[in-house]
Amino acid sequence: MNVEAGKKALRFQFAPIVDKLGYKFNPAEEDVEFLLEAEVTFQRQYGIPYCPCQARTRDRAENMKIVCPCIPFHREHYDAMKRCWCGLFVHKDVTDPSALKQIPPSKFVKRKE
Ligand code: SF4
Repeated sequence: MNVEAGKKALRFQFAPIVDKLGYKFNPAEEDVEFLLEAEVTFQRQYGIPYCPCQARTRDRAENMKIVCPCIPFHREHYDAMKRCWCGLFVHKDVTDPSALKQIPPSKFVKRKE
């Protein structure tokens, strides 16, 4: 499967999943294309569309938490940002994704305390 077909397949696969979670693809189409291309590369390499923005470790169980779309594993954090960590997905009501800020996990934990 070529890269374009791979991206199309991931869009088709992810859209209904994130829809049920209250998210949609980021309207910033250029960012979406870039991130999906990276995921297609991981999928070809490892058979799994790992997150392009989060580092994998030697711990398989932990790595499963960064398989796209990883929203259920980081729900509170992403809901607070109205976007996933990479910004591939945003809350359905977001019209200006450039206004959304990334909150580092360490700061998010502190905010909850
Ligand atoms: S942060 Fe976004 S792009 Fe990365 S795996 Fe999670 S849902 Fe996918």
